[in-house]
Amino acid sequence: MEPIQIPESILNEMIEHALEGYPNEVCGLIAGRDLNDPRVLRMTNTDPSPVSYRMDPREQLIVEKEMRKNGERILAIYHSHPDSEAFPSAKDAREAYQWNWGAPYIIIGKVKDSPSVRAFYIEEGHVTEVPLETL
Ligand SMILES: [Zn+2]
Repeated sequence: MEPIQIPESILNEMIEHALEGYPNEVCGLIAGRDLNDPRVLRMTNTDPSPVSYRMDPREQLIVEKEMRKNGERILAIYHSHPDSEAFPSAKDAREAYQWNWGAPYIIIGKVKDSPSVRAFYIEEGHVTEVPLETL
């Protein structure tokens, strides 16, 4: 499978967000016209907990409108697993359909303990890992 390439600065921004939100999960989007021009959009976790997240649907609408105006799309959806592996939970896989933008899911795992960052496509509850490369 074609690897996803993201700049190291973007990776570091996501890790920083995950550390700030610790011990709760954080969530956000990577938006851009393409992967050469990405930015991190931190989203509010409306259900803050160490084991789940929920994006604010109103905030999501505002962000989508802004992205459309800028000619951007969602390049990836990220969230953290503060103390567990960077692998989609059963809930992540089940609820992925709500965010079916065809974008990969990036998970930052074991946030305090040299974080691991992995990427997955989740389609109809089916999880496929995709290699993640930093530039
Ligand atoms: Zn998760």
